[in-house]
Amino acid sequence: MKKILSYLFNIVFPPRCLYCGKIISSPNSICEECFEKISFISAPYCQICGIPFEVEKQTPKNLICPSCAAHKRLTRLNRSAIVYDDFSKNGILSFKFHDKLAFSKLFTKWLKLSGKDIFEQGVDLIIPVPLSYRRLLRRRYNQAAILAKELSELTGIKTDLMILKRIKHTKAQSLLSHHVRLKNVRNAFEVSKPQNIKGKRILLIDDVMTTGATLCECAKVLIKAGAESVDTLTVARTLRE
Ligand SMILES: [Zn+2]
Ligand SMILES: [Zn+2]
Repeated sequence: MKKILSYLFNIVFPPRCLYCGKIISSPNSICEECFEKISFISAPYCQICGIPFEVEKQTPKNLICPSCAAHKRLTRLNRSAIVYDDFSKNGILSFKFHDKLAFSKLFTKWLKLSGKDIFEQGVDLIIPVPLSYRRLLRRRYNQAAILAKELSELTGIKTDLMILKRIKHTKAQSLLSHHVRLKNVRNAFEVSKPQNIKGKRILLIDDVMTTGATLCECAKVLIKAGAESVDTLTVARTLRE
């Protein structure tokens, strides 16, 4: 009976590509043409920060970029599923600002795949980058919290959506330069129950990584609260040309 109902439902409301609206065979997905236009971040990439290298596939594994070789990072591993570009940003922005929550299923699937190295190293707790109370009231939902919750369901790893708080309302990072971004998020976060962080391997989730200033500031606070390690995983990241 359930099967018949879902069959009929699919005839009346067929699943559509989240990007272009074309009819497709399975829900919460995208069509082949849109899939082709997404730039997935694939090997070879820096084993630490995840930045892709412009080299042929036959390169040795365990490559590390010059920046990671020169400085020890605060975070353990950073991964992102796709490049934030003119095409992919339409989906991210609809998910973030225009209530297109169907994207979360697709994005979570991508997060799980691109976070493979992180899950192999071990994660105890998934935490989303929080929004300020003021911004949460305006937008009604935190896109990073939705991703964290779904990723937790998909992987069986615990999540805590409340433990990391944004205590300072900051200007939208997208409007600021790199240097100002760092200053803008300084002291903006707080861990509410440090005893629940102590000794844990934390995975921080957000939709987009641009300069990494926000993720870095969150990691700083979590490590100060006693986290054993912090990894970051985002749906998309910008790449400098
Ligand atoms: Zn499409
Ligand atoms: Zn690197």
